[in-house]
Amino acid sequence: MTNADMTDDANANDEHKPKAAGGGNHTLYMIASIILAFVVAWLAPHFAASLEVGGEVFLRLLTMVVVPLVMASVMSGILGLGDVRKLGKPGAAAVGYYLMTTVLAVTIGVIVVNVFQPGVGVNAEQMLAASDTESVDALADSEEHPKGIRDIFKNLLLMLFTDNLLGSMVDTQLLPLIVFSIVFAGMLTTMGERAKLLSTLVTGINDALLSFVMLLMKFAPIGIFCLVTSKFGEAFAQGTFVEQLNQLFWYVMTVLTGLGIHALVVLPFILWFFTRRNPYEFIRQMSDAILTAFSTASSSATLPVTMECAEKKAGVSKRSTEFVLPLGATINMDGTALYEAAAAIFIAQIHSATHPEFAFGLTEQIVIAVTATLAAIGAAGIPEAGLVTMLIVLNAVGLPIHYLPLILPVDWFLDRFRTATNAFGDSVGSAVVDQTFPKDDAVAAA
Ligand code: ASP
Repeated sequence: MTNADMTDDANANDEHKPKAAGGGNHTLYMIASIILAFVVAWLAPHFAASLEVGGEVFLRLLTMVVVPLVMASVMSGILGLGDVRKLGKPGAAAVGYYLMTTVLAVTIGVIVVNVFQPGVGVNAEQMLAASDTESVDALADSEEHPKGIRDIFKNLLLMLFTDNLLGSMVDTQLLPLIVFSIVFAGMLTTMGERAKLLSTLVTGINDALLSFVMLLMKFAPIGIFCLVTSKFGEAFAQGTFVEQLNQLFWYVMTVLTGLGIHALVVLPFILWFFTRRNPYEFIRQMSDAILTAFSTASSSATLPVTMECAEKKAGVSKRSTEFVLPLGATINMDGTALYEAAAAIFIAQIHSATHPEFAFGLTEQIVIAVTATLAAIGAAGIPEAGLVTMLIVLNAVGLPIHYLPLILPVDWFLDRFRTATNAFGDSVGSAVVDQTFPKDDAVAAA
């Protein structure tokens, strides 16, 4: 009996598994809870801010399963393939997809910010005087940000490996865990009968964790309500959010337009082109994941939901979701890449107005595009991680980081939209890469 058979045996129990949480109604509840959350935050901001603990509980429960789920699902994916070498073609397709969509996203970011020119005419001095510069100084001090492209590549390469597996689990560094899981499960596939027990255990853990996620999703409307109300409540309670949004209106519009074009036009087209699926039906199927990403602002915390939706609702194969989604949640961040390019050029537009000596031409825009791509790959799937890796982009073209406080007040808000785009980009990737996996009979015959 091969490992593939063993995994198929484990999967044969599928009919005993709970079905995906709710149907269309569940999504409607989630949308309704987000709308209600805005209204409550607007009308009673102080009460709304006090719901933080409810949101935190939901977030912790989701985050709790991320590390075991990533390891169990990647291993179970390899065991399902029966041979790690079968990952060659899908692996190349996944990396190709991640790169292609990230570059497209960055290009859209560069184009919209050049068309809208949101930085032209902004009174930076006045806004900076009123902004919170301390947190940016702390950000700059706390990060050992790389100086040049070579440094960035070196860091990206090192991010794949760890000298302490448990340490990476504790810090939720998913990349080294994925590398370890691929190697470990690859070894199991070579061990025949001796690996049977471990393989059954891994697939069992994976199924149990996914069932837990389904259960958790039943409470998602409440969790999401608390997360969104408390965050918006906090912003409204401070009383400056609407004003800040007004001041940065064109900047916010630029980023949202770019994300909208990428998520609603480019990604749907790619999905349709490679899979002939109806993209808007696919968005509906993935809506729980998109709404969870919006509410948590964390791709990592959303990963369990993305996996559940892609497999149970959109019908993407288990072997694709198990491999493409964990990796995608860590390195494929279209929304973040688009945002970083647009934000850096926005800052450059402001800086050039007062510093005519600052040369900002095509070369600088290309450097921003390349570093934004790398910075997004390196960004962690946690709230506002993109703001931290922005330092790399600003450094690369010699822009001073003291402009960051300008965009800080609306960053948490835009973060929600870019995280939703990130999670959706990953799920489209899982459907596209699904096409390149060997067909079932080929796997079973192995
Ligand atoms: N919050 C984003 C994510 O988790 C990362 C970022 O753009 O800040 O995907």
